[in-house]
Amino acid sequence: RAKQSGRDGWSRFDGPLGDRQRERAALEQDLRVALAIGAITPWFQPIWAIGGRSLRGVEVLARWIDPRRGFVPPDVFIPLAEELGQIERLSELVLDRACAAAAAWPLPLPFSFNLSPRQFADPNLPRRILEILGRHGLPGSRLEIEITERAVLADIDVARRIVRDLAEAGVRVSLDDFGTGTSSLAILTQLPIDHIKIDRSFIAGVDRLPERGKIVTGVLALAESLGLSVTAEGIERDEELRFLQQRHCARGQGFLLGRPQPAEGIAQLLADEPGILQDAG
Ligand code: C2E
Ligand code: MG
Ligand code: MG
Ligand code: MG
Repeated sequence: RAKQSGRDGWSRFDGPLGDRQRERAALEQDLRVALAIGAITPWFQPIWAIGGRSLRGVEVLARWIDPRRGFVPPDVFIPLAEELGQIERLSELVLDRACAAAAAWPLPLPFSFNLSPRQFADPNLPRRILEILGRHGLPGSRLEIEITERAVLADIDVARRIVRDLAEAGVRVSLDDFGTGTSSLAILTQLPIDHIKIDRSFIAGVDRLPERGKIVTGVLALAESLGLSVTAEGIERDEELRFLQQRHCARGQGFLLGRPQPAEGIAQLLADEPGILQDAG
């Protein structure tokens, strides 16, 4: 097709690009509707203590299941919501629903919530978050927020103030996707981070790929020396779990340990095992 369209650098894209623009406009429209009717909901993925049946928390993951499109991945609709200036709205919708679910659970399980970088440029963010928690009678200590390094690129002073205000209310902050291009060491010197989450690209095959093994071992040592706790993301295999256990990684998350699921699944787990938040050693 490219060859047929000859030297004209534009014409060869005409068809597909036209289709793509139409498809994107349709997706935008569907997303606006989904936000308006509240069709984006929180699911929850368990975070476990590694080496014991002790539940440490859950990560809130936004889910959009469209009647026509089916499951639309967050990696598609989150960036789109950002571009459309709708991320605050999406975020408040999902956080509000997550708080409602968490307030109804039989045990005070902490939950982690992802924030987009541009929300970190809004000095009112802590007030808005705490207002939503308060509406559901939840203390700040139930919430942990997850940010990436991109969060501080906009304005480091605003980011610092946000983290400080949240910390005062007992909200902890973790650095997500640690080790990837968007999350480096610099942020650890710029913000008072409590926790890091090692990106799943390092965990996949960590037991048999020496480079990954060394990087993860190094990150665990770094975190320990900085007094930070660590979650390993994306654990899919027993061997990966064993590797992390041997190196005293505190917390783990991944399909091996539990899939993202609706709030009812978490409620059931907590109801079935009332001792599940206790330290399993
Ligand atoms: P993230 O914050 O790093 O979330 C972890 C992602 O890894 C989730 O993808 C989760 O389903 C996936 N995951 C967990 N365990 C495994 C595993 O063992 N194997 C594999 N292959 N994947 C695993 P998900 O739900 O598709 O979300 C993708 C990203 O979208 C998230 O990455 C986060 O950056 C963003 N996101 C999701 N929900 C929200 C939200 O409410 N607000 C914002 N701002 N971003 C969100
Ligand atoms: Mg996350
Ligand atoms: Mg992550
Ligand atoms: Mg991610």
